[in-house]
Formats: sequence, structure tokens, C-alpha cells
Amino acid sequence: MTRAKSGLLFCSLLVACGPAQTTTTPPAPTASATATTGAPEPAVAFDLLAPWTGPYDGVPPWDHTEDTAAFRPAFDAAIDKWLAEVKAIANSSEPATFDNTVAALDLSGRPLDRVSTLFFTLASSRNTPAVQKLTGVVRPKMSKAQDEVFFDTKLFERITKVYEARESLKPQQKRLVEKTYEDFVRRGAKLTPDQQKRMGEINARLATLFTDFGNRVQADEDSTVKLTEKDLAGLPKALVGVYEAAAKERKLEGYAVVNTRSAVDPFLTFSANRALREKVWRAFVDRGDHGDANDTNEIITRIVALRAERAKLLGYASHAHWRMSDTMAKDPQKAMKLMNEVWPVAKKRVREEVADMQRLAKKLGDDITIEPWDYRYYMEKVRKERFDLDQNEIKQYFVLDNIVQASYYMAERLYGYGFKEITGTVPTFHPDQRVFEVVNKADGSHVGLLYRDDFARQYKRSGAWMNTSRSPYAAGGGSTPIVTNNNNFTKGKAGEPVLISLDDASTLFHEFGHALHYLSMKVEYPSLTETPRDFVEFPSQVHENWVLTADVLDKFARHYETKKPMPKELIDKVMKARTFNQGFATVEYLSAALVDMALHTDPNGKVDPDAFEKATTKQLGMPREIVLRHRLPQFNHLFTSDAYSAGYYSYLWSDVMAADAWLAFEEKGDPWHPATAAAFIKHILSTGNATDRNEAYRAFRGRDPKVQALLKNRGFL
Ligand SMILES: [Zn+2]
Repeated sequence: MTRAKSGLLFCSLLVACGPAQTTTTPPAPTASATATTGAPEPAVAFDLLAPWTGPYDGVPPWDHTEDTAAFRPAFDAAIDKWLAEVKAIANSSEPATFDNTVAALDLSGRPLDRVSTLFFTLASSRNTPAVQKLTGVVRPKMSKAQDEVFFDTKLFERITKVYEARESLKPQQKRLVEKTYEDFVRRGAKLTPDQQKRMGEINARLATLFTDFGNRVQADEDSTVKLTEKDLAGLPKALVGVYEAAAKERKLEGYAVVNTRSAVDPFLTFSANRALREKVWRAFVDRGDHGDANDTNEIITRIVALRAERAKLLGYASHAHWRMSDTMAKDPQKAMKLMNEVWPVAKKRVREEVADMQRLAKKLGDDITIEPWDYRYYMEKVRKERFDLDQNEIKQYFVLDNIVQASYYMAERLYGYGFKEITGTVPTFHPDQRVFEVVNKADGSHVGLLYRDDFARQYKRSGAWMNTSRSPYAAGGGSTPIVTNNNNFTKGKAGEPVLISLDDASTLFHEFGHALHYLSMKVEYPSLTETPRDFVEFPSQVHENWVLTADVLDKFARHYETKKPMPKELIDKVMKARTFNQGFATVEYLSAALVDMALHTDPNGKVDPDAFEKATTKQLGMPREIVLRHRLPQFNHLFTSDAYSAGYYSYLWSDVMAADAWLAFEEKGDPWHPATAAAFIKHILSTGNATDRNEAYRAFRGRDPKVQALLKNRGFL
């Protein structure tokens, strides 16, 4: 079943996943990567549907993707091709078998996969106005085509026949049949024609509303708070440079704090001007909630109502029940149970953090009560006072290239992978991209390709994420994985090393963990590479732990000038400060996850978003000094696609497993413990979704995950 399996995005809880946000950045001066030779244009246009050619079983033809307009007819042709393939399967005169129905369906639509992969990668990494515009056209088309397949009665009859006889199949075949059958039911295969018509309308309507929501939030994020020389008190020099560049880019005088998290958070951390902090904070937390043309409240009301109607149509108690039916948690109650275990202890920690800040504010002679716009500012002061830790000092030991090598070292030592850089023979869509062949070190055999796209630039979305260009599976001649790690580091001057923060290093390992997951999969069928939403972050989160292991620090965290390792006192300080501020971080995240779940378990789906948010946070006893990490009017995770709706809890769910799996290494007293690493890749990474994920965890750990490790890691025990 093809839903553009390739091109999946996985990212951090900071940014929304799913189809890329559109942006309203002004067009760049023409910078065409082609047309430099003066050679005549080829008469025949490049075929975006064709199988990829070149080394490593073929590589993405990034050198033929400059012409955005070409994607439009390519999508139309690819969708037609796919629907024709599916019709042929549905109308076959042969009796339905696993091979001619379920496997054939899973392997169908390769041309559409190829076009989607290229296009949706661009929609994240080179999202020019032309790409943005086309995204708005493509998404409803894809939604309509998928519905046509899910609503095909003849096809579903054949799938049902195979499903009913599934006991005689091999385990992965049985798994695929069950997954396919359940997907079809979930997507409306059992509805009456009238109900299907309504569901199709709902899906189409949602596809448009999702795009509209993303556009409005993006537009609000393009606004700025302007600063003059006298407003810079407390701001580090490098940050002032960022605000100056932002003003220049927008042809403004002075300095500009753009209304995005990456610009706002450091301002709230360092600005000594309390009134300005409040102004910047208010602009940020009210994105999408200004009652103007970019206000999203009405869109949310409509999305939530449509989702509730769809869930009812399908016989589910709520949208959350529908959305979660293919997750590990399975239903909202299980997710709520976990969140309710963590929520009170995190809130308790916030009380302590606020008391610390209040005490320090008094000591500094600041006669204030801590407000939300003060939190980051005084938190940073407490950090300095308590741990004497200077972020800039740590940075000098984290050279980007070394940290990349450190991640490869981890993969070699844990799983026996080797990484060989490929230059010149594989096309890229930007000169900053680097390509590595991943091999099994023992015999040199090919594993897959890893692309890196580490630097920020215009038209690239913010944050960090991994995307897949090709999934690994064995059926139908087989396919080897191609993945990309994306970051947004600031490129230094030519010849100067790029220094990153400790948080950045963790993020790099996180995205690399997603990559390792895909590179390690050994499954038969394409759909078995798709793991549940609340499992996906587990392989990425667990790998963050290796950054601060003694071997990695000693070998790779070397001072950019002296090449000396981090002094022991500095490492000790870093270790001591690890659980600092976890009350804030957990409450900020968890409150958003709890509101998401409350919103999507309401069976009626009639909401006024602002009033709902207020009532729910009041009921939760939300500390008054913190707001949701994403307030509803700007919650891209929930309202730019269905993917993370009723799913923001997933980060916590995955993190329980990540903390508990890391504990498995700690219990052995060795982060490189060979047998534990071997069990991890065998049961967790390589199995994709070929087995039940709860069972896979038990096979690795001998028991279910326990929440204690997570509570300990966050300093709550
Ligand atoms: Zn992630």
C-alpha cells in the first residue's frame, strides 16, 4: 500500500513533522544550479517517474529537480499509473492470494513513491515559493487518490479473502495482511458508499485546512520585534549579530527579533530588559491568536469538528481513539496513564525551580514575582550560580566535523558499520550536502546511503529531522535504504571550524539514531518499515545518550584550537547540570500533550480553542509561570496533518523505552556492551514493524519498559 512511504520525516518535538510548512519568505535572486554550461537544453524532459539510475542501486536524480513546474504533470501521471496498477490488482480474474493481492498492492506505486520523495524532500529542504504553491495542489490530489484505493470494494473483498486465510502464511506475510486489512478498515473500506463519499469530502477539506493553518502560523512567525542599541543589555555578542543580520535581511534599521523559537528563546534567556522580554514573549505565545487575517482559531474549530465527525462515521469513540488504534499505546487511556504518572512530579519540580529563581531575583535586588517571560532569564542565572557552567566554554570542544565522526564511531562500535564519503559521483541538490556509503565493516558489504545536509539556508525549514528517500525491503527484487540527516547549523567563515552546542550535538546524535534505525531494517515488505508513531522516537532518543560517554568525549570533544580533551572539571560540571531545569522542560511539553489528548478525545468536537485551552490548563493545575510549548493556535504538530494529532504524547512514550533501554547498558556497566548492542539491533532496530513493537521490546529487555529510568534521568526520583 503506497502512501509515499519514502520521504517520511521524523523530527524533534521542537518542530512539526509531516508535510513541510509553506513559508512566505521573499524569492531569492535566481540561483540556478543547472544551465551553466551553455549547452543546448535536451529536447526530451527528464522523466521524474523513471527508476533511479547510477551507483548503489540507483540514486535520487537531484540534478534534475530544478524545474518545479515539471512536478505537476509528473504527479498526475504517477497517480494515474498507481491507480491503474491498483485497478489491475482489484479486477484480476485469478483467485486472491497473498502475492497477487496484498504483496502486489504493497509493491505498487513505485513511480509515485519516487516523485513524492523528490518533491516532499524539496518541500522541506528547498521550499521555494514555487514548491510551496505546488504543495497546496499536490496534497489534496494525493488524499483523493488514496481514498479511491481505500474505497475500492473489489480490492477490499480480495484483501478480506487473504485476511481470512492468513493463519497459513509466513509471519511477515501475516503481519502485512493484518496491517493492510486494518488500514483499510480504519480508512473507511467498510463504510457504505454514502458514508465513503462524506469521508472523502472530509479528507479533502482537511487537506486544505492543514495547508491554510501552516501558512497562517508561518506568516505570524515572519513578524519581528525591532530593537535599537539601547535594547541590547545582557545579550551575548553572537546573538546581537543574529538579530542584526535578521534586520538587514528585512531591510530594517537596527536589530530584529524574528518571531520564531530560535530567535525568541535566547532573547528571553539573556535580555535584561524585562518589559521587552514581556513584549517578545507575548508576540510569540500569541502566534495565530491575534484576531487578524492570520488567526487560526476558526480553522482549529473546523478541523476538530471534521475529525470528530470522521471518527463517528468510522465507529470510533473519538478522533484520538481512531488515530491511536495503530500505535503501541492503542488507546488514549494508556497514554493518559503514563502522562498522569509524570505530570505531578514535574509540577512539583517546577515549584522548586520557581522558588530558586525567586530567591535569586531577591538576592539580585529585583523586586519581582516570576512571570512566564522571566523564567528562562532567571533560570539561566540559577544555572550559572549553581554549576558555574558557561555554554560558550563547552562549545569550544564541539567541532561539527568531529561530532559527525563521533556519531560514526558510535555506529561502528555498537553495530559494526563503516562510513565512506562519496564525492563527485552522486548528485546533490545543494553543494553543502555530503554523501556517505554505509557498509558492514566486517566484509565491506553495502548497507545503504546516508546524506547529510547540516547547514541553515534560505528556503530550508528550521529544526532538525531525518528523511528517507528509499526504504529497505527484500520483496520484489529488493531495495536498499537511502536516508538524509538534516540540521540547521550556522555555517562558519571559510576555513573556520563550525562549533556547536552540547544540545546541538545531542540533536545530531538523535537524527543519526533515526538514520541508524532505517539503515538497520531487514524486512520483507515496504509497509513493514513504517513503525507506530509512539515507537518512532525511541531509536533516535536512545542514541542521544552516547554523546556524553567517556570514550566519545575523550576522542572527539577536543578543543578547536588546542586539540586537548575537555578538562575533567568541565565534564563534571556538565554531568552535574544534566537534570537542571527538567521541571520546566517536562511541564512545558507535557501540558501541550495533555491538551492535545483532551481536545481529541472530546466526542462532539465542538470547541472554542482559546476557551478550551484555558479550561483544560486550569483543570490540570498548570503552573502560572509556564505556558504550553505549543499553544493550540500555533500547534503545527496537530493541525498541519493528522500524523501527530492525538500523538504529541509519543515523545514521552518513546522516551520511557529510550531511558529504560539505556539503563540496560548502564546495568552492564558498559555503554558499548557487545551483547546488549547485538540484542538491540536484532530485536529493536532490524525488525522495523515486522513484529508487534511491545513484543519486540520484551524480546530485547525480557520485560516491559518501566518509567523509573525516565524519572531518574530527569532528576524526578
Ligand atoms: Zn526524532
